[in-house]
Amino acid sequence: MVSGQKTTDAKIAVSILGATGSIGKSALDLISRAPERYEIAALTAGRDGRKLAALARAHGAKLAVVSEPEGYRELCEALAGSGIRTAGGREGLLAAATEPADVLIAAISGAAGLEPTLAALSAKRRIALANKECLVSAGRLFMRTAKSSGAIVLPLDSEHNAVFQALMAGPHDAVERVTLTASGGPFRTYSTERLARAVPEEALRHPIWSMGAKISIDSATLMNKGLELIEAHHLFDLPSAQLDVLVHPQSIVHALVAFRDGAVVAGLAVPDMRVPIAYCLGWPDRHAWEAPRLDLAALGTLTFEPPDLVRFPALKLARAVLEAGGAMPTLLNAANEVAVEAFLARRIGFPGIAAVVENTLERAVSEDLREPATVEEALAIDHVGRSIARTLLPQFAAKAS
Ligand code: NAD
Ligand code: MG
Repeated sequence: MVSGQKTTDAKIAVSILGATGSIGKSALDLISRAPERYEIAALTAGRDGRKLAALARAHGAKLAVVSEPEGYRELCEALAGSGIRTAGGREGLLAAATEPADVLIAAISGAAGLEPTLAALSAKRRIALANKECLVSAGRLFMRTAKSSGAIVLPLDSEHNAVFQALMAGPHDAVERVTLTASGGPFRTYSTERLARAVPEEALRHPIWSMGAKISIDSATLMNKGLELIEAHHLFDLPSAQLDVLVHPQSIVHALVAFRDGAVVAGLAVPDMRVPIAYCLGWPDRHAWEAPRLDLAALGTLTFEPPDLVRFPALKLARAVLEAGGAMPTLLNAANEVAVEAFLARRIGFPGIAAVVENTLERAVSEDLREPATVEEALAIDHVGRSIARTLLPQFAAKAS
């Protein structure tokens, strides 16, 4: 039996960090379709205590955790007498991450997910990783922690999930190139002038995927694909030179792996995050569910184009920090989180996002920071990046439209 595989009648216990988000919702949808197969261990949310309480009751969670104090109070009130354990704050999040479970879906958005995900790795939980910012912020530390505890990391991000599967077609040293596709986001065809006037509502209206606000904005700037290059570098131990990005607006081909004999193995699926989530939940088996099926004849045409690094400089910045290494990826992620939040709050314009990130990286050079070797170091560098980025926001204030 493969380690971690269950006997046929035992249920698979699943914990979800970030259960109230878009990935959390998709995972719970799959889980609720097969109650005979799954049970819920822990569920967490950032602040929405009432929503998390409802999910915890509906899915019979053993532990429910809300990070923010006000939301935690709501959670406790709503779950009083239910028999479901509750916890709050950082300690609560760490307890949820290490609650006994067969699979932990890491779906918090941003570097806030780093500490609990590392705790889960140290506890040898099998991780279904959605939270790519963890790998950007402290990728080497993350992979080292997984290796030393023996924890299995399954990529949940659709492109990386496709790469993970395609890599099984040949040995690692026969891999020539890995290509991640990008939908191109809602602004794929916008001119530079039009991009300067883009507002949050437009950026949040993704043509293909329905996702949380942070990743939706990252998809609009193409920073998401940049973060994914760094994610792929760590997950698959490949240098920047072997990692590529191709814009593919239909989001049917999620990734391609080219081998040295000229063969290319691609991962295709309908653009629905439940497909990679189902893979992670079922692994190493494959569980049947009423998945929407891929119908290529109905689609007719799939198109591909290179990314435009002039209109979407965030992708170039992410590639540069991947190559520079050190503390740069941690700083890039931190600055991007601050910039995305500021754009959503209309404090900076759309081009300001990449500009804040670029200027943060330039200013941080004088700080002489090293690559984080511990979670404390990663959080300290993250803090520096956020502080610098915040001081830059007024320079890139949104123009009144
Ligand atoms: P989301 O914003 O919809 O949900 C985020 C979840 O994290 C929520 O439950 C929220 O309460 C919780 N959270 C946010 N900040 C927190 C904090 N500071 N402390 C504790 N909890 C906090 O995000 P999402 O779209 O579900 O994305 C989650 C992660 O998965 C991101 O890293 C994203 O890049 C990645 N991802 C998402 C998709 C997608 O289709 N949504 C696809 C691939 C990867
Ligand atoms: Mg992705």
